[in-house]
Amino acid sequence: MAFTHLPGGFPCFNHMPMPEKNACPFCTIDPAEILLENDHAVAFYDRFPVTPGHALVVPRRHVNSFFEITGEELAALWELLGRVREHLIAKRSPDAFNVGINDGVAAGQTVMHLHIHLIPRYSGDTEDPRGGVRWIMPVKAPYWKKG
Ligand code: AMP
Ligand code: ZN
Repeated sequence: MAFTHLPGGFPCFNHMPMPEKNACPFCTIDPAEILLENDHAVAFYDRFPVTPGHALVVPRRHVNSFFEITGEELAALWELLGRVREHLIAKRSPDAFNVGINDGVAAGQTVMHLHIHLIPRYSGDTEDPRGGVRWIMPVKAPYWKKG
C-alpha cells in the first residue's frame, strides 16, 4: 500500500486502514518513551514538539476517533491528562496549555490512533497567542479584529 512520509521518515497514515496496527507508531511505542500511564492510557512526548514538553495522551487500544472510546477509556485519558499536566507544571513551569484532538483526516489527523495533544505554552512563545486553536482557520481566528 502506498503511503506518504512525514519529516523524519514517519509514515502518514491518512490512507492506511485501521487493521495495519503493527505500523501504528502509537501501538508500537517504545516502553522507554512512556512518561506516565494507567490501565487504559499512556502518555509520551511528541516526537516533533511544537513547544518544549508537548505531550500526547493516547488510549492503549487502537481506535481512530475520540468518539469510539468507552467510558472507562475516557476516564483513564482524563485522569492521565491531568497527571501529565501536573508533571509538566512541576518540570517546566508553563504559563498555560493548549489541549487538542485532531479527530479525522479533514481535521488534520495524521496518526490514526486517537491522541490528545497537551501543549504547554509559555508567555511570549508567540507574538500574539490570542485565539489559540482558532488558528486552524487563520482567516477566521482573530474575531476581535472584526468590526
Ligand atoms: P496529528 O496530526 O494530530 O495526528 O498528530 C500526530 C502527532 O504525532 C504529531 O504531533 C507528530 O509530531 C506526532 N508523532 C508522529 N510520530 C510519532 C512518534 N513515533 N512518536 C511520538 N510522536 C509522534
Ligand atoms: Zn495504534
